[in-house]
Amino acid sequence: MGKRRIAILGSTGSIGRQALDVISQHRDLFEVELLTANNSSELLIRQAREFDANSVVICNEEKYREVADALQPDGIKVFAGMDSVCELVQGSNIDIVLTAMVGFSGLASTVAAIKAGKAIALANKETLVAAGSIVTRLAAENQVPLLPVDSEHSAIFQCLQGCAGNRIRKIHLTASGGPFRTWDREQIALATKAQALKHPNWSMGSKITIDSATMMNKGLEVIEAKWLFNVGPEKINVVVHPESIIHSMVEFDDGAVIAQMGHPDMREPIQYALGYPQRLPLNNRKLDFAELGSLSFFAPDFTKFPSLGLAFESIRKGGNMSCIMNAANEVAVAAYLQDRISFYGISDLVEKTMNGVDFVADPSLDDIFASNDEAKKYASTLLDKKQF
Ligand code: MG
Repeated sequence: MGKRRIAILGSTGSIGRQALDVISQHRDLFEVELLTANNSSELLIRQAREFDANSVVICNEEKYREVADALQPDGIKVFAGMDSVCELVQGSNIDIVLTAMVGFSGLASTVAAIKAGKAIALANKETLVAAGSIVTRLAAENQVPLLPVDSEHSAIFQCLQGCAGNRIRKIHLTASGGPFRTWDREQIALATKAQALKHPNWSMGSKITIDSATMMNKGLEVIEAKWLFNVGPEKINVVVHPESIIHSMVEFDDGAVIAQMGHPDMREPIQYALGYPQRLPLNNRKLDFAELGSLSFFAPDFTKFPSLGLAFESIRKGGNMSCIMNAANEVAVAAYLQDRISFYGISDLVEKTMNGVDFVADPSLDDIFASNDEAKKYASTLLDKKQF
């Protein structure tokens, strides 16, 4: 494998930091070209120096001076603002773009990278949730691979290697069940932010950790799987698997089920995407089956976790509905993290917004941006008026 030149969008977040850990173990195979961050200027500066990045973007323009003063003497180019991200990802010095930023904000730069023909290591699931039909079409037109980084989708992708075009009968998408798996609905209703932020298996950013507690994260992943693997929602079976050892499974027509396993460690799917199709040595914990003893599986509870049902509903409605749902969820999670709403306030706000924003059956990219804005405004207004 030749040396691959990498751009990491969102390098200071959980995925970005773990990607740099993978790269640090294979300096001969990867070169860091571009790092971007929203606000974490100090960490961005340290990363850029350590990995000798060619350029960095700090999205918060108020922090430009600080980053520029620190890095320009080292010959590292410094830019500010989201528009710079969209421009720089197109650079001829970049082979792979790892999209590891949080939320809908990742869409514009992902689209820019696809149009410039860059391979995408996709960690920003909201991109496919909001604009799956457009992003997958653009990727096909530009012959750009979408390499999944989300652990479940990486697992499915790995299970499909060597399947020689055989039809997928079912995808079994595993879910840890989150911190409230064994709680009853009354207890969950009173859950505090601190309790929701305590994920049993995975260490992740706060947005995705709350999404795991509501199981909206699994809902977003069902939508992501639909677009990545071109299967309808009826073929996607969510199965709760608290140990998070099986990262997902694919069932074929003959009933054979292929699973991908490992201890929960995001560096494994990251290295698979960055090194694809090669598997690289990684200093992670390896499985000891006798020590594991047993694995358990349960059906998901749609009453305790209504967000999961909303995600399936959004796929069935199609059009811009998943975009509306995702936008409302971003507003709702932020409000929950600010102690403005209760735990079930999140799914209530999402549902009311899905029912209130204009439906567009066949949205363009502009329609998607407009729907996202409209849904955020609609949800924020409901929130301000406490009408949900
Ligand atoms: Mg996942």
